[in-house]
Amino acid sequence: MHNIFKERRLPRLIAAGLSLALAGLSPAQLPQPPQSVFGFRDFTAQAKLDRDFLAVPDAKLAGEELKTLTAAPHIAGSQEDYATALYVAEKFKAAGLETKITPYKVWLNLPHKIRLEARDASGKILMTGPTSEHVAGDTFENDPRVTPGFNGSSASGDIIAPVVYANYGRPEDFEHLDALGISVKGKIVLVRYGSNFRGVKAFIAQQRGAAGLVIYSDPSDDGYYRGEPYPKGPYRPDTGIQRGSIQYMFEYPGDVTTPGIASTTDLPDSQRTPPDQAASMPKIMSTPISYHDAEPILEALGGPEVPRPWQGALPFNYHVGGTNAVMLHMVLKEDYCYTTIWDVTGNIDPDPASHEDPNSWVVAGNHRDAWVYGAVDPNSGTAAMLEAVHGIGVLLKEGWKPRRRVIFCSWDAEEEGLIGSTEWAEEKAHHLAGAVAYFNTDVGVSGPDFDAAAVPSLKEFVRSITREVPSPKGGTVYEQWVRSQAEGASRRGANNGFNAQRPPNSQSTAQGEAKIGDLGSGSDYSAFIQHLGVPATDIGSDGPYGVYHSVFDNYQWFVMNADPKFVYEQQQARVFGLEVLHMADTDVLPYDYVTYAKEIKDYIDAARKKAGEAGLSLDIGAAVDAVETFMKAAEAVHARQMSPAADDAALNVKLRQVEGDLLNPEGLPHRPWYKHTIYAPGEYTGYAAVVIPGVNEALDAKDISRAQLQLGVVTAALERATATLKSAEQ
Ligand SMILES: [Zn+2]
Repeated sequence: MHNIFKERRLPRLIAAGLSLALAGLSPAQLPQPPQSVFGFRDFTAQAKLDRDFLAVPDAKLAGEELKTLTAAPHIAGSQEDYATALYVAEKFKAAGLETKITPYKVWLNLPHKIRLEARDASGKILMTGPTSEHVAGDTFENDPRVTPGFNGSSASGDIIAPVVYANYGRPEDFEHLDALGISVKGKIVLVRYGSNFRGVKAFIAQQRGAAGLVIYSDPSDDGYYRGEPYPKGPYRPDTGIQRGSIQYMFEYPGDVTTPGIASTTDLPDSQRTPPDQAASMPKIMSTPISYHDAEPILEALGGPEVPRPWQGALPFNYHVGGTNAVMLHMVLKEDYCYTTIWDVTGNIDPDPASHEDPNSWVVAGNHRDAWVYGAVDPNSGTAAMLEAVHGIGVLLKEGWKPRRRVIFCSWDAEEEGLIGSTEWAEEKAHHLAGAVAYFNTDVGVSGPDFDAAAVPSLKEFVRSITREVPSPKGGTVYEQWVRSQAEGASRRGANNGFNAQRPPNSQSTAQGEAKIGDLGSGSDYSAFIQHLGVPATDIGSDGPYGVYHSVFDNYQWFVMNADPKFVYEQQQARVFGLEVLHMADTDVLPYDYVTYAKEIKDYIDAARKKAGEAGLSLDIGAAVDAVETFMKAAEAVHARQMSPAADDAALNVKLRQVEGDLLNPEGLPHRPWYKHTIYAPGEYTGYAAVVIPGVNEALDAKDISRAQLQLGVVTAALERATATLKSAEQ
């Protein structure tokens, strides 16, 4: 194995210098490659291959690709969305990938009619809307194909009701309304975006018997209170609307009618859950508005003053409402139908001489569909992925053959509920049980600050990749990442809820080490890690980004605010591609189970503390024993990962099995689709990860016997993982 690996690399290295010259990048501009990298028995050959790859992704081409992808609005299932699928497929083919477009049939809505009218007690009209999104000088806003602001998965209806303001719509916000003696039953709840996933706002409002939900963007969260609004700056202008799905993805993501199975086009309706019975389908009507439209409602609300933290940045004192001072007439007609969506996949066969498990796939993906133009979300990620594929295509032409199968994926209908990725993952579940990694990017570039979230076993892997990639700011991406975290920690914390896909991690890391967040939800890695136990990462480059899911997330905004020369696109392509390249070729899978064990031990300690604070007593003795044994086994296996072995392929199968051992086939209580015992999206947070979710959610519900049982489930998972590691020690 070791020898084959070296031999099959020799011929293509000759071309390395040539492609460096062609790309106009002298070897001196690349950081000095490391002497050794965890997982590679000898890094010399790989270091040359890496330099060959890094020379290819091109900033100018990425800019052209982004421009093409975002030329028209391309919401999932539209003609324009299909055109982007064909474009991506062409690029995959040109790079030499075996390319396929796979359709799925899924239940989606589009807005037929959205109408809001607010009147005061005397019947005087305060506002009619929604107002179209408009700023002076934007060249994209008037396209007739722009879908008006709406919420995916909203119910339809026609109601007139008083309005109650409920801050971010968190459980504690509704509890505060209880304390004020204000019921939301039968009323329309007005909440602001931020702090949690909008589907959670809808879920709680529905549970509390609200008749409707209106979600607006307060300027304090992503508007003028943060900085200059578009077109002067990157923040949300007064008419900007954040579209978005309210699907109950914390129950299960993907097509609402096919939990756990693939929504293939030939799946008969008899095997689908009727949409009105689907657990992930909201029953409440909900729509998003701008602060231009929310302002007259909020200003007239009356009722008690809000608690100080509920005050936003509009120029008057906020009140809770609940009186008849404002009556809102809300008409939503949502058109629902089965819609065809299209995933594009590009396959690279493994070297026929490879001894690796044939299912040890390396999967890398990004969604392609956008609420409107999606320059940042998601096509900055798509352009970067296309340039990564471009680089890998050059290696293929030079004769490179990966040790493991590589599949690049362009997902559809992520915005409506992570649908394209979930359906594909459910269809390929059997193979993915052996997949060695899923690498995600969604918001690829919104600014210059690299950031990542990952399963603990891959955190050091991500760091090692970024040490090889040059930063446009000088030095390596890793160095700039550490620097931006040191400088920007408070800013990122303050902006919590908007770039919530990569939540900051509270974990203590070594001094000066880049912190990597935990995987919650909000992007396409969910099915891979949380349903199937495929180790995953999510990467991107962040900056001030206030136009999320609005018409203004377009090419013009992007070149004015995010990355005018596309150098962060190039950086993103290099990091993303290098993740794939290393995982495809590594001799020994570079999973770091020692870090995993440490993090799980922290989670168990934190749960004990949390129980204690609630006056509950959680017995963590067996769980601590299990995690300490797991840690010792991880240390022993780490030594084996570091030393040359006779049969790396057999070791790799065991190493991969460990993540699978952390799945519980029964899933979480009430949420059987979520099988991972360590990570899930929170039922009441949505984007942010809940760690050891079975335990923590039972503690949140003050159900100590369920918490104890769920800790037993975690303990059993750790014991399975330990047994696997021990069998890998010999
Ligand atoms: Zn996205």
